[in-house]
Amino acid sequence: MNQLFPTYPKGLIHPVKGEGSWLWDEKGHAYLDFTSGIGVLQLGHVPQEVKQKVMEQLEMIWHTSNLFEIEPQIQLANKLAEISGMDLVFFANSGAEANEAAIKLARRYQQLVKKRNRYQIITFNQSFHGRTLATLTATGQAKVKEGFGPLPEGFVSIPYEDIKQLEQTISDHTAAILLEVIQGEGGIHPAEPDWLAEVEKLARDHDILLMIDEVQTGIGRTGKWFGFQHYPIQPDIITIAKGLGSGFPIGAMAAKAELREGFTLGSHGSTFGGNFLVTTAGLATLEAIEKHNLLEHVNVMGDYLRHQLQREIGDFPQLKEIRGKGLMIGIEWEIPVADLIRIAKDQGLLLLTAGPNVLRLLPPLNVSKEEIDQAIDILKRSIDRWLENEKKSSI
Ligand SMILES: *Cc1c(COP(=O)(O)O)cnc(C)c1O
Repeated sequence: MNQLFPTYPKGLIHPVKGEGSWLWDEKGHAYLDFTSGIGVLQLGHVPQEVKQKVMEQLEMIWHTSNLFEIEPQIQLANKLAEISGMDLVFFANSGAEANEAAIKLARRYQQLVKKRNRYQIITFNQSFHGRTLATLTATGQAKVKEGFGPLPEGFVSIPYEDIKQLEQTISDHTAAILLEVIQGEGGIHPAEPDWLAEVEKLARDHDILLMIDEVQTGIGRTGKWFGFQHYPIQPDIITIAKGLGSGFPIGAMAAKAELREGFTLGSHGSTFGGNFLVTTAGLATLEAIEKHNLLEHVNVMGDYLRHQLQREIGDFPQLKEIRGKGLMIGIEWEIPVADLIRIAKDQGLLLLTAGPNVLRLLPPLNVSKEEIDQAIDILKRSIDRWLENEKKSSI
């Protein structure tokens, strides 16, 4: 019995310690963690380089509010601009808030700077953009909206990779298009490059803002700093969160210089946004990714992981597809995978879902080849047992 709202399922395990790709529970059992706190722990658990910088910061100053100049915040903004090709950054505390900032900026820019009545945000079915009222409305999944009406106006969700629908949906009131280049929570669906190029062209032709939600795909997850960098597109706005702070709650919205007048003095804000501790963690995270050449490592390990998965489990009956980019991998089955997650946990491997039938792997970016081999070994045994159980229960 505890006094938490039952918004989450009962915890799979009770972790007390983490290090790198590993977690330990209160009984001392070790688990290989391929969830990374849902794509948050790019450097694994308790990375020493981040810990060192945050400990130094803890001795100095933690929080002042944004009424004062925050040196690590400025440095992190500059670093994010450098690696993304964006020009201006606003700090928030989560992915939903980063998207909320993007939606607000798009509308305010259209309405106050461009002086036209544009407010509509076009999003896509199976997308996920967060749990605030605006971002759950932007999310293309009915289950997150149930019971929360009335929802904010000016959002429409259309099928992914359907350029005709997009063309027909765009109107004089469209302010922006918001999308994930690889849908994460929706099942690990990488977008077709041709479709994305056409989306960008439509956005340019109609003078609509192109906003990319990089909350899950960003910070090296796919083998480049940001997912959009795999594609021939240049967004106007991107949003960042999960992997940025190594577990410290931080979100960011980055935009091109043209949007500067959209967010003028006093138009948006956050008490905690970008404080000393979280931006220090963010900077240390980006520096460590750079120092250890982890983008290259993600490409090599991602190829290896997908190759080994195909080889070791590709022939199991009921398996539909293995897909993804870098270390963001989905394995789709014909049946729900909840039982497989439990079996793998008992064998010492922690995994995620992305929708009922998709097993999702998000190991830390610095995962080793040996850890991948170990994970595949456990996964294979777990699938054997899982399909055996399924067979028994279906007789
Ligand atoms: C997780 C996620 C969000 C929401 O982030 P929170 O930090 O939980 O608010 C938004 N967009 C995408 C693509 C995500 O994966």
